[in-house]
Amino acid sequence: MGLFFESIHQLEELKMALVFQETPRTDALACALERSHPERPSQVLNLASKYGFTPTKLIAIWQKYMVFKAQNAFYKALPEVFRAVIRDAMGAESCCPRCNGIREVSVPEEFRRPNGSPRRICPQCGGSGIVRMLGNSSAQRLVLESVVFTGRRAVLVQHLHSTVCRD
Ligand SMILES: [Zn+2]
Repeated sequence: MGLFFESIHQLEELKMALVFQETPRTDALACALERSHPERPSQVLNLASKYGFTPTKLIAIWQKYMVFKAQNAFYKALPEVFRAVIRDAMGAESCCPRCNGIREVSVPEEFRRPNGSPRRICPQCGGSGIVRMLGNSSAQRLVLESVVFTGRRAVLVQHLHSTVCRD
């Protein structure tokens, strides 16, 4: 209850929560709050009771709106989250750990041919100086399961899809 009463001072958000319900009674209470500008929680509750809303009902409406706002934040962040997951899945190019990017390695004297070069092309990077580090396997699995809609994450992805496409 304490948290709700702290929030109730944010009258604009409470009105949004009521309008979000899309019922004649919640619309009417939102209009009444707009007209009367109550300053104390008790005034809000008194007004709400005139429209048939108990404190418990008002809290339920508020909580439903907070869930809606949280879902909105989730959907808004989703593209960036997936971009980051895809980056993790792909791995990254890195300086070759064998030659440190020099592209060549030295050949120990005992392995050199007569008059052979003391250096040879790095066998790990093939002379490019760059290697691709393995991508994060959890991220790869998440991307693949999301794209092909299989596996246990399909439930989440299908839920998101159906939620977004419902409206
Ligand atoms: Zn190398």
